Amino acid sequence: MKIDLPSKFIYYTNDRSGHAYVRNKILYIKGLVSWEKVAYDICYALHGRKVCTYCGKSFKKTRITVDHMFPRVFGGVSIPINLTPACKSCNSKKSDLNYYEYKVLRTMNEKEGKKYRQSIYRKKRKIRYLRGFDLPRNWTSEMNIKDIVARPIPEDGRSQRKYKRVTEFVAKYNHLPNPIVVSANGVLLEGNTVYWVAVDFGIENVRVIRLENVFVELL
Ligand SMILES: [Zn+2]
Repeated sequence: MKIDLPSKFIYYTNDRSGHAYVRNKILYIKGLVSWEKVAYDICYALHGRKVCTYCGKSFKKTRITVDHMFPRVFGGVSIPINLTPACKSCNSKKSDLNYYEYKVLRTMNEKEGKKYRQSIYRKKRKIRYLRGFDLPRNWTSEMNIKDIVARPIPEDGRSQRKYKRVTEFVAKYNHLPNPIVVSANGVLLEGNTVYWVAVDFGIENVRVIRLENVFVELL
């Protein structure tokens, strides 16, 4: 898919070792840049950092967060089409619901809402067994793991815990919990842990979201 991009955009890492910029409707990423940070900045560049998508109220910049319209826990990745500004209160109330489900929930009273939330979770548990994540079908395609270029990432305790969580998911449901985000030239942007678990489990074909207007140059 092609992602929405602001016409002007520039991002530098804190130590200035890497950067990202938009030129001729293409996002170029150079060096080891956090994809999530770039995606969040693109979200604010596209939608502003003032008005909450859900309640429509205006807030101070510090009260606005980035919401994953399809939530992370059900495979919602950090790509601009899945990101929108939301106030802290809406983001927290929305919790694990997706954009459409939360809009429905907002029309309900507390009792109805509680029931609705429970029915959604029951449905989502089934989705985990069927295909792992809950995202629009046309976002993903299949790719051979050998064609993905992994980026080096620093090891830390958190990634160890993530690795354990993903392996447990694969053992239980027999597929990966979320798609891998790659650039047009096949460089891994998001889903490092899923990528390494797929390698270790010998899973050859993986679901990916390929961003056709994003290019990564590893320095
Ligand atoms: Zn709000």
